[in-house]
Amino acid sequence: MLSAANAEIPTPVQPVPDTIRVYNTLTKTKQVLEPVAPGRIGIYLCGPTVYDKAHIGHMVGPVIFDAIKRYLVYCGYDVTWVVNITDVDDKLINKARQRGISMAQVAEENTADYLANLRGLGVDQIDHMPKATENIEEIIRFIQDLIDRGFAYQSGGDVFFDVAKDTDYGKLSNRSADSQQGEGGEAAAKKRSPGDFALWKAAKPDEPAWESPWGAGRPGWHIECSAMSRRILGETFDIHGGGLDLVFPHHENEIAQSECCHGRPMVKYWMHNGLMRASAGGKVGGRGEREGDEATVDTKISRSKGAGGLADLIAQQGGQTLRFFLLRTHYRSTIVYGPEGLDETKTALESFARFFERYQRITSESFYSLPPIQRRRDGELDPGDDPLLSEVAQRRTAYLTKMDDDFNTGAAISELFELLRVLNKFVDQQDLENPAARDAGRMASLRRGVATLRELTALLGLFREAPQQAAETQDRLVGPLMELLIQLRAEARQRKDFALADQIRDRIGALGITLEDRKDGTLWRLS
Ligand SMILES: [Zn+2]
Repeated sequence: MLSAANAEIPTPVQPVPDTIRVYNTLTKTKQVLEPVAPGRIGIYLCGPTVYDKAHIGHMVGPVIFDAIKRYLVYCGYDVTWVVNITDVDDKLINKARQRGISMAQVAEENTADYLANLRGLGVDQIDHMPKATENIEEIIRFIQDLIDRGFAYQSGGDVFFDVAKDTDYGKLSNRSADSQQGEGGEAAAKKRSPGDFALWKAAKPDEPAWESPWGAGRPGWHIECSAMSRRILGETFDIHGGGLDLVFPHHENEIAQSECCHGRPMVKYWMHNGLMRASAGGKVGGRGEREGDEATVDTKISRSKGAGGLADLIAQQGGQTLRFFLLRTHYRSTIVYGPEGLDETKTALESFARFFERYQRITSESFYSLPPIQRRRDGELDPGDDPLLSEVAQRRTAYLTKMDDDFNTGAAISELFELLRVLNKFVDQQDLENPAARDAGRMASLRRGVATLRELTALLGLFREAPQQAAETQDRLVGPLMELLIQLRAEARQRKDFALADQIRDRIGALGITLEDRKDGTLWRLS
C-alpha cells in the first residue's frame, strides 16, 4: 500500500482532456478538472485520528477516493494519493492515560486496525500515509515561517495563528473566525482573539513532547495537514478531500496556514464527502468524534447485533458488500446506513454473481480471472453491425458520462445494472445456455460485452476475486460430485444403457470437463 517515496514515477499517457468535472466546495460549482501540472494529479485526504478502532463511517472517504483514483488513472493521469495518520492529539493522550499504555502504543494498535480495514474494503490505491509524529521537523519549519511572516505569534509555550492577519479567512466555509470555538480555559487566555487556533501546544507534565524553538510541546491538528501535504504534493496541489464536517474549522485553517505561508493557492479543488447516519436516525461517522459524538454507527450496530468493531462488520458482511454499499450513494450525499441498505446491496451483488455463474457455464471461463482493460481508450468498442455490442457501447458511454460528472458512482452503478440486463437478455435470446446454440460469432460478442462489464466494475474496485466462500464450496464439492457422476455413468454402461452413459459424458463435456476412460477407471479434468 505504501510506495517508497522515491518510487519511479511512470510517464503519464495523455489523459482524456476536459471531460471530467468536479464539484468544488471553494467555488460552489462544478468545474472542468484541469490539473496544476498537465497529466499529473495530487490528492490529499484527511485521514484518521488513531485513538480508537475505526467504524464504517471512517471508510466513506477512503472508499470514494480509492474509486476516484482508479478512475483518474484509467483516464490516463499519473495520480499521487496521500492519506495522513494523526497519531498525536488530546484524544490519543487521554486514551493512553486511561489504558495505562504509551501514546505510541495506542497509535500503533489503531493504525494497524485502520490499515486492516482499508484492506478489507479493497482500498489499496493510497501512495503515502504520513504520520504527524514522523513529520515534526517539517511542521516546526512551517510554524516558524508563519511567525517570520507575521501570521503567527508565540504566547507562553504555545504558538497561535493570528486569524485577524488573514483577510481571506472564511472563504471555503463562508464562516468567520468568531464562530470557531477553539480551545477554552487556559489556552483562551493566551490568545489575541478567540478565533485564533493553536499551531503548537506547550507540553503539560507527562505528555509526549518534542523540542522546538518555543520549548517542548507538540503540533496542533490543523498544521500537520498543511505541512505534510506540502512535503509530498507541493505548495499548490490539485484535490483536497475530507468529510463535510471538516470544512470548518479544519480545512479553513489549512487554507489560512498554507496560503499565508506560501502566498499562493493551496488547492485547486476541494471535494467533500457527505457523512453517514444510521437509518434509525442520528448523525454518525466522519470526524464527528472530534466534537465528542460517540453515537457511531458501530455502537448502534453493536447494541442491536452484538457485533464488535469494523473488522467484525467486514467479517460478517464481507468487504465487497460494504464497499458496494458505500459506492451506491453519490459521494456528496448523506449515506444512510442500516440493515435495509445492506440487504439491498447483497441482493444486487447476487444478481451479478448469478450472471458470472452463467458466463462460466457458457464459456468455461471465470469472470474473476478476466484481465480488466486498464485504460479508457483501450476499452472503446467498435460495434459494427453487432446489436449486442451497440447496446454495450451505449451503456459504457453512459457509465463514463456519469463518472465524468463529479464521480457519480451511484449513477454509474445504475448503468452497470443496465449492462447486466443487456447481457442477460442476449444470453436468453440467443439460447446460449444450450451448447448447440453457441456459434463462434455469438460467443465472441458475449465475450466482448463481458469484457466491458469487467472493465467498468474493476474501475470501482469490484469483483476483484471470487468470493472466498463460493470458491471453498466449489473446491469441497466439485471432486465428490464428479466421482458420483463417473460412478453413475459406469453403472449405466454395466446395464448396457449406453445412451444414458453418453448423455452424461456429453453434458459434462459441455461444462468444460473431459472424461478419460482408462483400464483402472475414469479420470476427469477441466478442458
Ligand atoms: Zn487534515
